[in-house]
Amino acid sequence: SEEIRVLCAAGVPEDMAKRLSEAIGPVTILKSDDENEIIQEIQDKQVFVVRSKPKVTANIIHNAPALKVVARPGVGTDNIDKEACKNKGVKVINTPEASAASVSELTIGLAISLLRYAFTTCSLLKSGDWAKSKYTGRTVEGKVWGIIGFGGIGRRVAAIVKAMNAQVVAYDPYIPEEQFANSEVKRAVRLEDLLSVSDIVSLHVIMSDETKGMISAEAIQIMKKGSYLINTSRGKVIDHKALMQALANGHLAGAALDVFETEPPSDKELICLDNLICTPHIGGSTEEAFINATDIMIRKLRQMFKP
Ligand code: NAD
Repeated sequence: SEEIRVLCAAGVPEDMAKRLSEAIGPVTILKSDDENEIIQEIQDKQVFVVRSKPKVTANIIHNAPALKVVARPGVGTDNIDKEACKNKGVKVINTPEASAASVSELTIGLAISLLRYAFTTCSLLKSGDWAKSKYTGRTVEGKVWGIIGFGGIGRRVAAIVKAMNAQVVAYDPYIPEEQFANSEVKRAVRLEDLLSVSDIVSLHVIMSDETKGMISAEAIQIMKKGSYLINTSRGKVIDHKALMQALANGHLAGAALDVFETEPPSDKELICLDNLICTPHIGGSTEEAFINATDIMIRKLRQMFKP
């Protein structure tokens, strides 16, 4: 059968390229994200492996006569012109399953850190302040935890939270009813029904026109006074101005963010609030997620090129 040649973007790590060369075929690694270099090198390549860079433009797609697939080990494919790919019959594959355990674990870690003031007391301790009696935390046990977006990550979070003896309610209009029953999770028919009963709300929706700004000033107002908000999905799901207000006036007890409206976040005022903790979009950044992504990508490519 025909030899499969792989082009890897400049940002693709060496061990991933090595595994691709063992499993798929000869690999060429680009030296830069320069479009001219890409077009020159892509001529005889059937597979183009990219990360969040470079931009895979229509110009590249139209000048890639052998190209069959653009592969993104990871989640985001915003840098790929999917319309151009579709028009030329080039498939786009990614590996969203690869980081589900990593993101759900960070969600739980952030929630516990937030409820127990772990980040806050850690930085106080480092500056010499033994704030043992200043901060009284809360448990997850006995709370109502609301999950918005009941996909791969949302379902994992639900299972962990249930093991911590919290009650779980989830909202996702695109998931069939029996999925909630199978997971022994209460289904909220409307977003408001979840927001008004939850002590902790975590976000696990995809980014779309519908979910953009979903956690608006009105939505936050419906949330219980003294509740917590955790976001490891996409920054634009939350109206950050409204969040800032609700944290500053104490309507929300706290928030934990791994993702931001713009990254890195430009709003210093928000991220420096005492009742907000944050991490720099590290939800999927684990060795295991990376290995999973390579495994899944190779499996999908092999499936595609199966003789
Ligand atoms: P998924 O596609 O499995 O689940 C997303 C769910 O959102 C789906 O079940 C879908 O039905 C639901 N949904 C869509 N529109 C909705 C709406 N209007 N209201 C309620 N639910 C809605 O995706 P996933 O793998 O579970 O990922 C969830 C999120 O986590 C995504 O935004 C993804 O980008 C993000 N993520 C973040 C990191 C990180 O580093 N922090 C890493 C990986 C994924």
